[in-house]
Amino acid sequence: MHTPTSATVPAPFSVCVYCGARSGDSPAFVEAAQSLGRSIADRRWQLVYGGGKVGLMGVLADAALAAGGRVVGVIPELLMDMEVGHTGLSELQIVTSMHERKRRMAELSQAFIALPGGLGTLEELFEVWTWRHLGYHQRPIGLLNVEGYFDALLVFLRHSQRSGFIDADQQSMLSMSGQAEALLDSLYSAGRKGIGGANLASI
Ligand code: AMP
Repeated sequence: MHTPTSATVPAPFSVCVYCGARSGDSPAFVEAAQSLGRSIADRRWQLVYGGGKVGLMGVLADAALAAGGRVVGVIPELLMDMEVGHTGLSELQIVTSMHERKRRMAELSQAFIALPGGLGTLEELFEVWTWRHLGYHQRPIGLLNVEGYFDALLVFLRHSQRSGFIDADQQSMLSMSGQAEALLDSLYSAGRKGIGGANLASI
């Protein structure tokens, strides 16, 4: 009988999710985080996220773990010391800085998704989008627009495009959907098309 070895078992598709360290004011946000975590696990993909146990971050990770998924968290020492790190993950990588965390999360992932969140989520989304625009990676990025949470941001992005600061190519690097399964399907096909090459070490 052929026993698979680590050399013959393909690595799972790995998706990074950015989301709030708070839960927001609508049960729809919690339900979306639960459902996304479960879907990633059901697809036998790996979830990479910021390693927190609070807010939508904790909800997302717990849902993926409960569905038997592999979850990797990447958290800076400072946040670990503040006791917000999730200690029940498949793997928790503790890094020295926020910058190292964001690079590590990107290195581990073939696609990126933003769920509703606040400053941290927006910063991570815009940073990974900027890295793509500058050519540091070619990996797909998606926005899960739960209950129209990002509608006002999309209005601003169109305003920025009309004002000449963002071009259509840059805008097209961000996929948007209100449907998690459709978004996961499109990120998977883009992430698998051999456009996964990256030069993240020089960020
Ligand atoms: P925010 O959207 O401001 O709630 O921040 C959430 C994002 O920032 C996550 O994707 C995390 O990577 C990071 N982050 C912010 N606060 C925390 C926290 N208390 N614990 C872990 N990560 C956090």
